[in-house]
Amino acid sequence: MTENLQSCCLANWKMEMELDPAKDDLPLMANTRHMLVKHYVLDLDVDFKSQVIEGTIVLFFEPGSRCKKGGSAGEGACLSQSDETCKIRASEPCHSPVTNVSARSSKTGYNDFAVCAKGEKDTSDKNGNHSNGEQASGISSSKNCCDIENHGSEDFLLVLDCCDLSVLKVEEVDVAAVPGIEKFTRSAKLTDAEELRNLRNQIVHELVTLPADRWREQLYYYTRCSQAPGCGELLFSTGTWSLMIRKAEVQAPRDFPCAIRIWYKTKPEGRSVTWTTDQSSRPCVYTMGSPINNRALFPCQEPPVAMSTWQTTVRTASCFVVLMSGENSAEPAQLQEGLLSWYYYVTMPMPASTFTIAIGCWTEVKQESHTADVRTNNEFSSLFSRADLRLIEGSCGHVAYPCRFQNPAASSQLVIPHRVFAPWCLKDRCAEILLELIPQCLSAAHATLGTHPFSRLDVLIVPSNFSSLGMASPHIIFLSQSVLTGGSHLCGTRLCHEIAHAWFGLAIGARDWTEEWISEGFATYLEDVFWAVAQQLPHDEAREQQELKALLRWRRLRDEVQNSEEELQVLRPNKENTGEVSESGTCIIKHGLNAEKIFMQVHYLKGYFLLQSLAKRIGEATYFEFLRKFVQKFHGQLILSQDFLYMLLEDIPEQKGYGLSVENIIRAWLDTSGIPKPLLEECQTWDQCRLVRQVNDEVTKWIQVNQRARKRSKRKRRQDEVAFQKLLPDQLVLLLESLLEEKTLCLRTLQCLEKTYHLDEQDSEKLGLSRCIHCPRSVNIFLNLNNLDSVSFDMLI
Ligand SMILES: [Zn+2]
Repeated sequence: MTENLQSCCLANWKMEMELDPAKDDLPLMANTRHMLVKHYVLDLDVDFKSQVIEGTIVLFFEPGSRCKKGGSAGEGACLSQSDETCKIRASEPCHSPVTNVSARSSKTGYNDFAVCAKGEKDTSDKNGNHSNGEQASGISSSKNCCDIENHGSEDFLLVLDCCDLSVLKVEEVDVAAVPGIEKFTRSAKLTDAEELRNLRNQIVHELVTLPADRWREQLYYYTRCSQAPGCGELLFSTGTWSLMIRKAEVQAPRDFPCAIRIWYKTKPEGRSVTWTTDQSSRPCVYTMGSPINNRALFPCQEPPVAMSTWQTTVRTASCFVVLMSGENSAEPAQLQEGLLSWYYYVTMPMPASTFTIAIGCWTEVKQESHTADVRTNNEFSSLFSRADLRLIEGSCGHVAYPCRFQNPAASSQLVIPHRVFAPWCLKDRCAEILLELIPQCLSAAHATLGTHPFSRLDVLIVPSNFSSLGMASPHIIFLSQSVLTGGSHLCGTRLCHEIAHAWFGLAIGARDWTEEWISEGFATYLEDVFWAVAQQLPHDEAREQQELKALLRWRRLRDEVQNSEEELQVLRPNKENTGEVSESGTCIIKHGLNAEKIFMQVHYLKGYFLLQSLAKRIGEATYFEFLRKFVQKFHGQLILSQDFLYMLLEDIPEQKGYGLSVENIIRAWLDTSGIPKPLLEECQTWDQCRLVRQVNDEVTKWIQVNQRARKRSKRKRRQDEVAFQKLLPDQLVLLLESLLEEKTLCLRTLQCLEKTYHLDEQDSEKLGLSRCIHCPRSVNIFLNLNNLDSVSFDMLI
């Protein structure tokens, strides 16, 4: 029992102070084990002129797993997510922090604290607003650390993750003032201040633990409580990566206000939101999925264990459409001439990092003639048996929320309601390519995995500065305009990839962010499976295409392993410590800000090959049956690699799993750099597949063409009469790659290539290729785009 709160908070401070700016690690500073957020209410005004989002966020908390009062902790459902998910620490005694009470702390006034402790360079403006300092300036200032110590560090510090924000005010919310809230309180007699504080926290506790079937009532009271008056300002200070809040003389998290309101503003240069113009030159703003997630959009608890629900009201000029992670497709309400209000909510708890917003003059793309959207399951059941409906009857393992897996009507919904938004100038292209693909890909996903975890989907074509080909968030998928080039292949595969993230990445998240492969490996693997079903390919054809894809990915992985730091090639960099957090819940994401890592595909590729190799070993039918069971068991929860592997090996018949062990898989695939040994043995087979041999034949022809073209002088040159085979998009990629590995191709051959395969009309990666075909290095980069979620397309062009 030596740990005390002071040391926790100091550790937090030290963590921030000791971060080496030269290093690329990313801190998650929120002390989720002391206070755990359950719900956010955002109320925001978006101003395009000043490029600022301003408003309030109200956070509803439960005291964290380490801070519950002795006997009363387990009242009903109040055992929080962190108890569930932080198994590593679960065996330790749960004790409340012990602090030394000192009169000194109570004398510290608001200004005193804010001025002394805000740290870094003075970033407060004339109005006394406090800003997160610049990264470089926030790290060396150990002096301020001491200031904190001298100014009442015995008080409990609530630490939230944020950066690039101006915080104006923090206050406690008087939830007891909400009319009708009495029903959440057992003893309504209020006498002294202490009791009133307890009453407020009791109300919040009752509210956040309402049973799932009362979610409407819960949302209603979240709204009412978020609008309740303030009842006292709280002291706060900002660091580079955090906002620290305390209340004078409150030393234990359980006595800290469970509902607080923060008044704040974003900054135009904030790294979470991108202010830009769309392809029709109209202003827009969107979250772009940077490594810092939403920290520069709202103060939050970043560690994934802080799974919460949210509701958001956004007011902005009436020419804009507000899209967001919300399960309702919001209809705007007119507040006054030229001003609309949009309201979204979710009832499924998810990490705050998954929240996404996009505001612009988007046009909804609709089908001209209304053709039948929804296909029957029979069309898609040729390859995979229907999702096993019996599984629905099993109960869910997550905290209670209105879950689609428990709702037979939702479970049998092949295609969820969906809309497509795009800038005006891309409307027709979207109608042509995207509209038809979405129901096909959604049905294919349902045929493979069963229940769609989310009730609806918006797909948005994002501005051209978007840094990847696609991004999946709850209820919304961003696609780059690049997927609209050429035929349906790139668009379809990318859509399948993002749709797969609804299950892997969103409904089932990685408990430790370094295990990115859980999200990207699965999405890459499932992308092929969904796309084959969506195209209704016969089994053999699907297999051939997947082998070709495997070869392409193998070549990519081989190149990357040769050209990157070994340390960055490991899928589980924290090894057996993966998933561990500090006593207060903080942790550091290794290489989280490393620019090189951000561009690497190793998590996609090695993860994909691991899943593919397991499928081969176990047999596809058994494997998919298992995946559905796995989704049934773990949706709504966070996992580590071993959760997947242990369940898999327990589940599969013994003769099939012979020789497989969790330890061996972890050692060979997850904990080592380089190419996994089992993969080295497998990679020989893809060269022999029919589609690859076909490409090799064409490569031979082209080399001959090239040789002849070089030998001949200008005068003798005549059109070569060579019959080339028609190639699939992925075959074409392989052909071009192979040719570029050969000796220099002469200009004439390149022109002929372009003409033969209509490269200027092909999918975007080949389009790019035709533009920079004279530079093999950029060609490789282009070809690499094929699988990547997070690479800057524009900077390559
Ligand atoms: Zn469920």
